[in-house]
Amino acid sequence: MSLVPFDDRDGWIWLDGQFTPWREAKVHVLTHGLHYASAVFEGERMYGGEIWELTAHTERLFKSAEILDFAIPFTVAQIDQACKDTCAKNGLTDAYLRPIAWRGTEMIGVSAQNTTIHVAIACWDWPSYFSPAEKAKGIRMTWAKYKRPSPETEPVHAKATGLYMICTISKHLAEKAGFADAMMLDYRGYIAESTGSNVFFVADGAIHTPTPDCFLDGITRQSVIRLARSKGFEVVERHIRPEELAGFSECFVTGTAAEVTPVAEIGEYRFRPGNISLSLMDDYAKMVRRELVAA
Ligand code: PMP
Repeated sequence: MSLVPFDDRDGWIWLDGQFTPWREAKVHVLTHGLHYASAVFEGERMYGGEIWELTAHTERLFKSAEILDFAIPFTVAQIDQACKDTCAKNGLTDAYLRPIAWRGTEMIGVSAQNTTIHVAIACWDWPSYFSPAEKAKGIRMTWAKYKRPSPETEPVHAKATGLYMICTISKHLAEKAGFADAMMLDYRGYIAESTGSNVFFVADGAIHTPTPDCFLDGITRQSVIRLARSKGFEVVERHIRPEELAGFSECFVTGTAAEVTPVAEIGEYRFRPGNISLSLMDDYAKMVRRELVAA
């Protein structure tokens, strides 16, 4: 596979309030964010010139920073505008956006109160996390090596870089074994989420999804719950035990990158990309392009 590295591309990155040529948007090796994971980020998508749930994403970025005990030196409105401006500056109307905020270089130790907080926004063309063929068939998932930790162990509601360590390890193991992704249980043994998306199941026409009490309550998850309810589906948020998977006919994952992606298998359990998953996948694609308004 020939990869175009992310530091060697044309375009502009918004960095601390200025547009910087893409290749010059750099940080020093002694950056606190790199050494101590003092960084929070977002993943957003622009569809046909509009960023889906832009302010919800920006507000989550600010909330994540607050949880990590730092303040982003801009307003939510300024970051919203900067996200739109970054897409415009790069000539993109359909794009994935990556805002990130991190502690800088003034202190390099556990204590880091006097570091400058930096913010960058990059965007690029990124059509689909899972290929259309994978989506139609449903992706194959295995069980993750790691569990989502308890809220007493980590700041579980922040979208913080450090929380992705167990996701990357689990996803690598899954891909090495030929699977698209891994399903993570939580510290109690309940179904939690995949390494980068939330999960839903279908039984007898009703939709069931884990209560997000120790993992990210995804913005796509919330959009899909609203969409499903507007279509008249019952959506039940509750703790789900792994052995209950035998009783579900359909399964799908949701996320900004994954959008709505049907799942064909998780470990020993099999699902079919049925009507509910496929119709929500299509309706979500229409909703984000404003071709459908959820009640
Ligand atoms: N869980 C994890 C671990 C994620 O990385 C993501 C993607 N941000 C999600 C869930 C879904 O969140 P969202 O719908 O806000 O993209």
